[in-house]
Amino acid sequence: MPGRSGVRLVGARPVSERLSGHAAAGRRPLLLRGARPLGGPRQDVLVTHEVVATGATAARLAADLHAVRVDVEDLVLLPGLVDLHTHLREPGDEASEDIVSATRAAAAGGFTAVHAMANTDPPTDTVARAEALAQAAAARGVVDVAVVGAVTVGRRGVDVVDIPAMARSRARVRIFSDDGSCVGDPSVMRQALRSAAAAGALVAQHAQEPRLTEDAQVNERRATVELPGWPPVAEDVIVARDCVLGHDLGAPVHICHVSTAGAVDVLRWAKARGTAVTAEVAPHHLLLTDELVGTGDPVYKVNPPLRSAEDVEALRAALADGTIDAVATDHAPHVSSRKSCAWSQASPGMLGLERALAVVLTTMVAPGRLEWAQVADRMAHRPALIGGLADQGRPVAAGEPATLTLVDPTVRWRAAPRSTMSLSDNDPYVGQPLQGQVEATMLRGKVVHLAPGTVRGWPDDVADHLA
Ligand SMILES: [Zn+2]
Repeated sequence: MPGRSGVRLVGARPVSERLSGHAAAGRRPLLLRGARPLGGPRQDVLVTHEVVATGATAARLAADLHAVRVDVEDLVLLPGLVDLHTHLREPGDEASEDIVSATRAAAAGGFTAVHAMANTDPPTDTVARAEALAQAAAARGVVDVAVVGAVTVGRRGVDVVDIPAMARSRARVRIFSDDGSCVGDPSVMRQALRSAAAAGALVAQHAQEPRLTEDAQVNERRATVELPGWPPVAEDVIVARDCVLGHDLGAPVHICHVSTAGAVDVLRWAKARGTAVTAEVAPHHLLLTDELVGTGDPVYKVNPPLRSAEDVEALRAALADGTIDAVATDHAPHVSSRKSCAWSQASPGMLGLERALAVVLTTMVAPGRLEWAQVADRMAHRPALIGGLADQGRPVAAGEPATLTLVDPTVRWRAAPRSTMSLSDNDPYVGQPLQGQVEATMLRGKVVHLAPGTVRGWPDDVADHLA
């Protein structure tokens, strides 16, 4: 149906009305020429702060509106990625990472929203702390930041935080997690699951039975006298317990960084019986194995640890068939002093934001195990649903926010040392052959990342679109 101006209506309002808001922000519309939405056929896509039109309509409107034209022929266009598991390190450890560096790394990796885990110093366990972090992130973050609340006061595993108050607060906390530690006490977990469900929130569990992993350093089959083992069953039993607890209460539960074939079996069983469980896998668990423990380099120390090739295969299969809902980075920066030491003294954790999409492309898309539409599902749509982010992970379609990522799927590369936006350099992918690179990231029409030295060369006008 034509609007007053003769421009067709897209969504609820005429295109002309939506363009005026963008012009007021001092930005011209962008015409992305020859993009491939979700890896499909080439199409022109016209964007302001929203996707205005696609195909022939986009090209026609672009001429009338003097749009900035960018040749992105054959780049895959995805919704901006959403990370469920980011360690910002702010407050308390700004030498390792802060809001600015973490969100820049996120944008460089194609992410337009991240969830800030609660194991900061102090931990995010009160309304005041959650609101302070949300406010700081809104002021200084390059991409959207959703605040994750701790499950228990001080992350000590004893007293459940005031979940309803944090959910109602201006920080709108939707996910609660003691990540870094397991909520080991089943009665505490039961209480948290019940309280979160009543508040429209959910608990995300770091599944690690504490009594089975005391001093654990490496996957159990790599254990030595000096480096005690982390048995895979220590993960499996907590996943099973929490699926059963959640099922009994009708409460949703989310499992962080699944790393074992056994946990995948449990998830498959729980989903088949109708449990409201969701799960994520970290990029390092999709690509790297415990063979790397043999290098002795603590850059490969992570919790849960790198597992066997059989576990990696089970995780890839589970991501492909949807048993695992999402890829989440568990981006965990550490200053070099915490990694340049003996393995047993080193802190667990790895960078991930800037490599996650390439890892998924290399391990899942290139071998034909995931289509691009499924990448959008596992890395944008489902994480946004789990995190309750209404304007993230949306389809690439007219009327939707221009929150987008452009990917060159053909580039083959190896990460160079110290080649990230992070303040830390515990990058386990240095030297690994990877495929695919994020060329540009856009948040509601603002270009928040443009790959340096991109082959295509974007016109200078695009600088106006940079955040
Ligand atoms: Zn964790």
